[in-house]
Amino acid sequence: MPVYSHSRLSTFEKCSLRYKYRYIDKIIPEIEKSIEAHLGSVVHETLEWLYTEVKKGNIPSVEEVIVYYSQRWEKGYSPNIVIVKKQFTPKDYFDKGIQFILNYYLKHEPFDDNTLEIEKEVSITIDENGEYKIRGFIDRLSYNPKTGEYEIHDYKTSNSLPKKEDIESDRQLALYAIAVKELFGNEKEVSLIWHYLAHDIKICSKRTNEQLEQLKKETLELIKKIESTTEFFPNKSILCKWCEYNNICHEFNEKSPEDKEEEKRKEELKNYLRMKVPDAKNELKELDIWD
Ligand code: SF4
Repeated sequence: MPVYSHSRLSTFEKCSLRYKYRYIDKIIPEIEKSIEAHLGSVVHETLEWLYTEVKKGNIPSVEEVIVYYSQRWEKGYSPNIVIVKKQFTPKDYFDKGIQFILNYYLKHEPFDDNTLEIEKEVSITIDENGEYKIRGFIDRLSYNPKTGEYEIHDYKTSNSLPKKEDIESDRQLALYAIAVKELFGNEKEVSLIWHYLAHDIKICSKRTNEQLEQLKKETLELIKKIESTTEFFPNKSILCKWCEYNNICHEFNEKSPEDKEEEKRKEELKNYLRMKVPDAKNELKELDIWD
């Protein structure tokens, strides 16, 4: 029985063809990761390192944290990394990360010593027979002695803020809350905390035990739907620009009606000119209307 993750489930929900490429056919993408993915992973690695040091009793200076971030950026950077938003340069993204780290550091320094685990791996059983499991990693798990609550911290590097209803229905951290309750007791309170670094804000939410039970049922239904799916359809959207399989996806490469119309117009013009002005071939080649 495959082990699922939030990311695997959400890939299926967004585009089942991408799911097939990634999880069934296991195609290794030819396209490099996006610059947004690079930025996200380097920021996560930096905050992971920062809290690991704090846990050891050593608080790195902000300069040391920036140096660590810069080294990780360089190490994982490749010129083939995809930049979809052409108006930005790699340096723009690098600088963004510096700003995220600076804001976070200045807001949280000297950092509490409530951290229990960093990048904690959790496994959640969602059915009674223990057949279906969800695996995930909590960015940081802490215990707040003032409130008596466990806190699941998640760092977000995206530019957009979620709507209230998105936060209330978020599956990923809610699944992690099930794991935390399995570890520390079902009666314990668990706070879900998202740090939106681009906006320098944190958003908190909670789930009742009834909501978590309902979530297990819905997640199980989704897995059963995935496992009974035999046809995987593309779902073309703005997100295709960031899809690591867009070079092999027919739907993405299908020409738009506007492109088709433009091609037809060029063809008609070429045929007309072939008849009327055959000697103009070289000049027309330069104007990109002759093959
Ligand atoms: S390019 Fe778009 S439609 Fe094609 S697999 Fe990727 S997400 Fe799906």
